[in-house]
Amino acid sequence: MQIESRKVVTLEYTLTDEGGDVLDTSKGGEPLVYLHGSGNIIPGLETALAGKGEGESLQVTVAPEDAYGDRDEDLLQTVPKSRFGDEELETGMQFQARGPEGPVLLTVVGVAGDSVTLDANHPLAGKTLSFDVTVLAVRDATLEELTHGHVHGPGGHHDH
Ligand code: ZN
Repeated sequence: MQIESRKVVTLEYTLTDEGGDVLDTSKGGEPLVYLHGSGNIIPGLETALAGKGEGESLQVTVAPEDAYGDRDEDLLQTVPKSRFGDEELETGMQFQARGPEGPVLLTVVGVAGDSVTLDANHPLAGKTLSFDVTVLAVRDATLEELTHGHVHGPGGHHDH
């Protein structure tokens, strides 16, 4: 069976940045399961997987515009440290905040004196990403999965 819209795809993947550093991998953990054609994964990877079949491996390099977008320096903001109470803040810490369009991941990029600089860009924004991917399985999506736009069951988005 080939990968196309309305198929559920199970992948093993390793993600590296331009310097060859491994950013993420499914090896040793759960494979990635997604519904093809529903924007569950970044567009550059989804496009490259179309037409592939079970057992196929591929290497895909994805530019920022087909991954997590370019960095937006307007998403950097400096706020008073007192907003975090007694919490010990360090560069690299991440936490969720409520944004106008849902949860936003904020990364602490600087702590100086009484102020903290936060970055609301996606941690992978502005990066060219390389994926080493093996297609483990392809199956038809269920009607319920198509209605929800994501995968159910093991490895899926949620169970219900
Ligand atoms: Zn659902």
